[in-house]
Amino acid sequence: MIYSIVQFSFIVATALFVFALHWMKDPKTARKGVFSGVAAMTIAIISTLIDPAIVNWEWIAVAIAFGFIVGIPLSKVPLTAVPQRTALSHAFGGLAAGLVGTAKFYLWLDEGPENLTVFIMVAIIAEIILGYLTFTGSLMAAGKLQEIKWIPQRPVTYKGQNFINLGLLAVAVVFGILLIINPVEYGYLFPAIIFLAVLFGVLLIIPIGGADMPTVISLLNSYAGLSAVAMGFVLDNKLLVTAGALDGSSGLILSIIMCKAMNRSFTNVLFGAFGQVQAAKAGVEQRTAKQETPEGAAQILEQASKVVIVPGYGMAVAQAQYRIRELYDLLSKLGIDVKFAIHPVAGRMPGHMNVLLAEAKIPYEQLIEMDDINSDMPQVDVVIVVGANDVVNPAARSDKSSPIFGMPIINADKAKMCFAIKRSMNPGFAGIENELYYADHTFMLFGDAKAVIGELVKHLSVVVAEK
Ligand code: NDP
Repeated sequence: MIYSIVQFSFIVATALFVFALHWMKDPKTARKGVFSGVAAMTIAIISTLIDPAIVNWEWIAVAIAFGFIVGIPLSKVPLTAVPQRTALSHAFGGLAAGLVGTAKFYLWLDEGPENLTVFIMVAIIAEIILGYLTFTGSLMAAGKLQEIKWIPQRPVTYKGQNFINLGLLAVAVVFGILLIINPVEYGYLFPAIIFLAVLFGVLLIIPIGGADMPTVISLLNSYAGLSAVAMGFVLDNKLLVTAGALDGSSGLILSIIMCKAMNRSFTNVLFGAFGQVQAAKAGVEQRTAKQETPEGAAQILEQASKVVIVPGYGMAVAQAQYRIRELYDLLSKLGIDVKFAIHPVAGRMPGHMNVLLAEAKIPYEQLIEMDDINSDMPQVDVVIVVGANDVVNPAARSDKSSPIFGMPIINADKAKMCFAIKRSMNPGFAGIENELYYADHTFMLFGDAKAVIGELVKHLSVVVAEK
């Protein structure tokens, strides 16, 4: 009876996981998707706990308490730190899968080697290789994104790197095959596979630059999902198989979407060492960008009839979305048509800008996807670039030598006038200069985005009050 209830709950949880992913596709239903995912996970945990096979409640209680202690502070990180927080979750998931595979192997090796069939051994080997490499790979990725001092942000490359990395993986796979053939005789190779997987995880991430980390994290997500699938086979738990497969495939799809939005290939992300410090170009003359004051910018804005705001990572850092909402309200009161141009990889994760602008209750229909707004840009009187850099860099269109060449961008340079809000002339995530800032029609408004937009709001409030 309990078995049937558990199996039925697994079907319900799987269905809820599928709905969760489906609803999360659209901002309007995303909240429902989150609730569905939480419900699915709750059902999964409860139905696993009522399994009579559970032998030790005390340790489970300790693990749950530990999970809460780590999980609650993790849930409170700012939105800008979500990619590294997600990487940490994958690290824990990978470690859990690796440990379960290790425990099962040694348990069966001692108490019943006949359980270590070819099928189970294939699953265990896949589980530990993927689990442990996800563990260290995700820790490295989180460290790079968090800019931890002793982890280099820039890609670290050396001669023969890919050969060494793939060689290590190949050795682990060969050891795995020997273990599958005879787990008892070659049992001593098991720790060596773990060591190689742990090392491979670190070496896999070292040559990848910070700019590619979100894509890699999403790829590691799919590895964690696949190791959960393998764990599901080892434990004969169908829910783990289905949930792991959903996790694995959604991670892979997300990575593909990100690669497409950046016009990059998987191999380029994994082996391209993107974000390496570019050698300074010889003979480049020192240029200065034109500046404008918030007061002057406000005077120009009040004359405009079409304004487009392009948010980027800097808006997230400055948490300027609420000020932008005030700016939007004031400009709208002046009868100005204000739209937001959303680049698919603006910020540090897909949907980053949508979430922040929705948080500030900016009407969703004013948020226009890059492909839909680009053709309107020549008719736009003023484009306000708020902490965006790479996603408006015209080099992506014209400079074949640029690392972002081919990435679709928002055509801010085609508008009649451009105000760019940022703190300095420092480059963005890709580490390259932006010609837009030196263009004839561009004026820099230097400062923290929240403060600068606050100033614009102050000046425009006076204009609105006088009307
Ligand atoms: P960028 O990282 O290119 O630029 C952000 C700019 O914001 C910087 O130039 C910085 O300049 C400015 N800035 C930082 N803090 C502030 C602040 N407090 N106030 C004002 N400005 C600030 O961001 P984009 O959004 O344009 O591009 C995203 C990048 O991330 C792309 O390269 C994309 O490929 C990459 N990426 C994104 C992913 C995603 O899913 N979103 C996934 C993978 C990669 P300054 O220091 O001078 O202020």
